[in-house]
Amino acid sequence: MPETLIDFVLLNDIPDKKDLSRGIGVYRLTTELEKHGHSTLVIDYASCMSLDQLEVILSKVKTKTFGVSSTWFKNKIFTAKNLRKILNKYNDSYKLIVGGAYAYQYIDEDYDHIFVGHSENQIIDFCSGIVFPRIIDWDRKAKDGKFSFNDSYTVFPYLHPDEIVGLETSRGCIFNCAFCNYPHKNQNTRNFMKYEDVLYKELLNNYETWGTKRYAIIDDTFNDYTDKLVSIKRVVDKLPFQPEFWAYIRFDIIAAQPEQAQLLYDIGLRSAMHGLETWNDETAKIIRKGNRQKKIDGMKIAKSIWKENVFVNVFYIAGLPKDKVEDVHDFILYWKTEGHEYIDNVTAFPLYLRDNESQYIELSDIEKYKDLYGYKMTGPKSWIRKDPGIDTFEKATEMANLINLNCKWKKKNTAWTWNAYAQRLGIKNHEEATQKFFDEIYYPNLLKTANEL
Ligand code: SF4
Repeated sequence: MPETLIDFVLLNDIPDKKDLSRGIGVYRLTTELEKHGHSTLVIDYASCMSLDQLEVILSKVKTKTFGVSSTWFKNKIFTAKNLRKILNKYNDSYKLIVGGAYAYQYIDEDYDHIFVGHSENQIIDFCSGIVFPRIIDWDRKAKDGKFSFNDSYTVFPYLHPDEIVGLETSRGCIFNCAFCNYPHKNQNTRNFMKYEDVLYKELLNNYETWGTKRYAIIDDTFNDYTDKLVSIKRVVDKLPFQPEFWAYIRFDIIAAQPEQAQLLYDIGLRSAMHGLETWNDETAKIIRKGNRQKKIDGMKIAKSIWKENVFVNVFYIAGLPKDKVEDVHDFILYWKTEGHEYIDNVTAFPLYLRDNESQYIELSDIEKYKDLYGYKMTGPKSWIRKDPGIDTFEKATEMANLINLNCKWKKKNTAWTWNAYAQRLGIKNHEEATQKFFDEIYYPNLLKTANEL
């Protein structure tokens, strides 16, 4: 039996093997846990790991609680049953818990507790000795904004300089799009902002300790308030380096507040994701998004400042209320004739709808009131609707494929290269490069840490 006792060992995964980046939720938790005097160890890059490799690490420590983050979890071998087989060998007693964005999907597996929603506050209460029910979900909505994220920055035990690090500058979204199932939408995020000095320390600490310069900002709308961008610019201006950011941007806000374009560029925006969603103004009104002209105006203003230095990707959802086949053709024509000047890539997908499969998931307004919006489910994902043209999920899928086929990347993403590590190594297959990083750098480092505990 190992002698070292770690209070929390958390297993985490990566969003995508195409770049070096990891989910940040568990690090939010370990930061809060360490602050409250609990020892922690994160085992990351689960997608790249075998069960034997996991066991080697777990054979070196005893743990009171072993947690799994479901958000990016893809490793199908790491079931609760298999995890218990290993944990039982090295621990007399322990709790097995799961949290993250899809925790509710693990209710039927052999976990002691399921954490639903943001858990940085819930996990601290869990440690207080109070007896909790199996499903812990009091922070599922956290509508009062009392998260600890804005007054303490997330600490990472190890980062590679080429990793793109997730960053929250505020939490929650001020908008209320009808197709969105994000639990923190329609909130006054002005009060949920990270304090300037905390953000400054986070960026500086990661730079000085790990050489980190590139971040994926996970705020749902980075440019929701101009005040917020002004505040972040003050932070960036004090840094001894220029950070680079990937973020979700709304161009209709840039149209209304054009000064944002320069601010965003100066802060370091180099890759912008935009939810265009539709080319039909009636649809835009129903789903509560800005109209076509406002989006075009915003993109033009941004382009005049950003030139070729910011990569712009837009998302299109085929099959939204009143969205027609002609709208899709009109959009493709626009992209071919003019849109490609402002948009580097389009990612389209069909409207996905779910039934209320669990009381622990948030449904979008369209999902909640399908009848009202004119949809009827015919299968787990399939729907039909009365509007002519795109009247089935299958037709919406066909339309999304048409957009993806016609609006392909016209130029290389020079502004933002996802896998800088692969480029540095001259490896064209980015997944191979990520595995190489895990085998040669991440795992040996983790093993060394576990040996030294
Ligand atoms: S789709 Fe985006 S902008 Fe709209 S409510 Fe959801 S998070 Fe906010």
